[in-house]
Amino acid sequence: MSQNPAQGLTSLPVFFDLAGRRVVVAASNDSALWKTELLYSTGAQVDLYCAAAGDGLNDLAARSSGLQLISRTWHPDDLLGASLAIGVFEEAPEAEAFYKAAHRAGVPVNCADRPAFCDFQIGAIVNRSPLVIGISTHGASPSLARSIRGWLDALLPRGITHWVEAAALWRAKLKSYDLAPKQRQTFWDLFARRALESGNRVPEECDLLELLQETEGKAYAAVGSVTLVGAGPGDPELITLKAQRALHNADVVLYDDLIAPGVIDMARREAVKIPVGKRGYKPSCRQDHITALLVKLAHEGKRVVRLKGGDPSIFGRANEEIAALREANIPIDIIPGVTAALGAAASLRVSLTERDLSRRVQFITAHARDGKLPDDIDWRSICDPRAATVVYMGVRTLEALSQRLLAEGIDPGAAALLVERATWPDEHRVYGTIADLPAKVAAIRPDGPCLVMIGAIFAQNRRAVSAALSQKAVTGKIETIDLRE
Ligand code: SAH
Repeated sequence: MSQNPAQGLTSLPVFFDLAGRRVVVAASNDSALWKTELLYSTGAQVDLYCAAAGDGLNDLAARSSGLQLISRTWHPDDLLGASLAIGVFEEAPEAEAFYKAAHRAGVPVNCADRPAFCDFQIGAIVNRSPLVIGISTHGASPSLARSIRGWLDALLPRGITHWVEAAALWRAKLKSYDLAPKQRQTFWDLFARRALESGNRVPEECDLLELLQETEGKAYAAVGSVTLVGAGPGDPELITLKAQRALHNADVVLYDDLIAPGVIDMARREAVKIPVGKRGYKPSCRQDHITALLVKLAHEGKRVVRLKGGDPSIFGRANEEIAALREANIPIDIIPGVTAALGAAASLRVSLTERDLSRRVQFITAHARDGKLPDDIDWRSICDPRAATVVYMGVRTLEALSQRLLAEGIDPGAAALLVERATWPDEHRVYGTIADLPAKVAAIRPDGPCLVMIGAIFAQNRRAVSAALSQKAVTGKIETIDLRE
């Protein structure tokens, strides 16, 4: 759900300019420190009434010129003429008295941790002043509000403050340009987009000029750009913040077959979303058509996101796209993603490396140009029991792979498993050995994306395997390993 004006609003978020206004804080002790500092940071004139101020409040008062510490208990007359009152009390009756006195004086009041004696809540704050975001759960869960604050804070570009400051300056400058109201709106829409997109750098005067040009419709001479974005293996939460931002700013999103709808939904609502699925053995878009489309869209001045499953640099044919875009002089960026092997390892709760059991990690493809098992793989490296091998696109050729590895001398008991749709809610695994996995997999005929994982590190009873490997080092032969848990 987004905005629903018909739904009740539990409280109205207002952003109260307190600069130069008198605010009363009444407190039993130093637990008022945080709120007093917060109020003081708004530029308010803070009158703090506290009969038992400790070092914290005394220090704050000593270094804050607009903050007056009055070392006595508050009196109802102290509230007269104040804009806001905050009470931080040990005892409920005092909070109630303060609340009532504030009402008699016509001053909105908040008594910390006493919802019954509050006209307003302060909530959690993302402070990128002049950008301020307030979050309230109406007292239901301040921890949730704080977590949401962390989440929003991480999402905001680091330099967004500079852009908001620039907006204030440019608003004044814009008056000297004779823009019609509609153009003015276009200017600010374009500004908002640029601020989120380029929020990690400081805005410059040329940004203003470019935005004005764009507002007047001269922008399409500009070249667009392409960002190759890793969408992760499935679970939408595995996408990076950077990827999310690129999606928010895209004009066009070209996405692969294996991308979760939740990720595509992160794209700007107005963005054109084009599926360009490429799946082995199924009807699909040709790579050269995709590359040509990327170049064409960028030449039209579009910001294109090319969303690829997992990480763009792992079996994603990214180099073909990069080469074509470079040749066409189109700016290109790459945002990495979580590759399927890492997603699967996390689901399995397995570390791909371990001091004695797995000294090497390798990702291979078992799918050559002709759809068959490639011939030029270093098979011995997969036979090494201390290697963790993750095979991409390896279901069709699993039987051939198993035969080849057995012929190359792999231990038939070597642990191997298949992980289908790693990190999706319906992830499925088939455990076995390199000798029996093909038959087990053939019996279930998986139709989702699958990885085959081979190596001692994937054995379900790793401790026994580890012991057996050490024994092999001594005796030169390995016992048959029981792979059951
Ligand atoms: N760039 C992608 C891989 C593209 S190749 C990445 O980094 O993950 C496509 C192959 O990736 C599939 O055939 C399958 O072998 C593997 N794959 C992708 N997503 C997967 C998933 N969620 N679970 C298992 N395998 C997956």
